[in-house]
Amino acid sequence: MNLGIDIGGTNIKIGVTDKNHTLVYKDSLPTRSDAGSAVIMGDIKEKCKAIKQIYNITHVGIGCPGDKDDANVSIIAAGNLPFNNVPVVAELSEVFDCDVYLDNDANCALIAEWLVGSGQGCNDMVMITIGTGIGGGCIVNRNLLRGVHNDGGELGHFVIDPSGPDCPCGQKGCFERFASATALISAVKKAVNENPTSVIASLAKDGINGSTAFKAYGMGCPVAETVLDEYAKHLATGINGIRYIFAPELISLAGGITGDSETLIKLLRSYLLAPSVVKISSLGGDAGIIGASLLYKFAKYYLSLRKKGG
Ligand SMILES: [Zn+2]
Repeated sequence: MNLGIDIGGTNIKIGVTDKNHTLVYKDSLPTRSDAGSAVIMGDIKEKCKAIKQIYNITHVGIGCPGDKDDANVSIIAAGNLPFNNVPVVAELSEVFDCDVYLDNDANCALIAEWLVGSGQGCNDMVMITIGTGIGGGCIVNRNLLRGVHNDGGELGHFVIDPSGPDCPCGQKGCFERFASATALISAVKKAVNENPTSVIASLAKDGINGSTAFKAYGMGCPVAETVLDEYAKHLATGINGIRYIFAPELISLAGGITGDSETLIKLLRSYLLAPSVVKISSLGGDAGIIGASLLYKFAKYYLSLRKKGG
């Protein structure tokens, strides 16, 4: 049995997978960000101790956004999480006797999709995770693109409009400024203010999230259609650039806004240069924990490839 932990800004998902990489147990904890990293790690360790009483865990993997050290054992800094030089692998090794692995959350989603999802058998594939920002991961010639400091494949931060809005990374007009769920939600808020009697405005009274525009679109709202068409155009611009750079067999899209996959693909289709390459992740919200639980397998595969190649 393998344990996967997916640390996010709102929730920490924890799951156990069996030898067929099927989830046999799944739970989530709120991320107590205000309380600091020691409390968050304490919560995770408590949960892990309870799981260890039930399952014989042989590998542990953790997926987390943000910067890791070069050895991929500590989280140096993690965006909206209060993690600052936290030795995550060492801390969880106190609980478990087995190997513990750490990687980027988008890489975990990619690994899951590549090894057990729709990317099985691909030599080259790209994962784009659409959430608060845009994360990315790339399999290039059956190897994970890592870069010098384990921070390669950050697909959210290539510029699609140099005169676009400021990005926390220091550039202007990055892909994620236009195509993240945050960008879609901002566009919905603007449209609601400008069209107070529209269907989307009435749905927005219950709160706006990444699926509000899709729901209104499904109800025939022309304002939602305009918002989503503009959003799809930006998302497709980034995807087309990524396709030219990597020429992958598959570009897999993941994240909450891909829930209405049929509508998203329909809207993207007219703007995509190679629509047949683009698919919605087949594992949905569980990709992060499944991928984390599979990090051990991938690490071994990666190392064996490295050895074979000399
Ligand atoms: Zn950026």
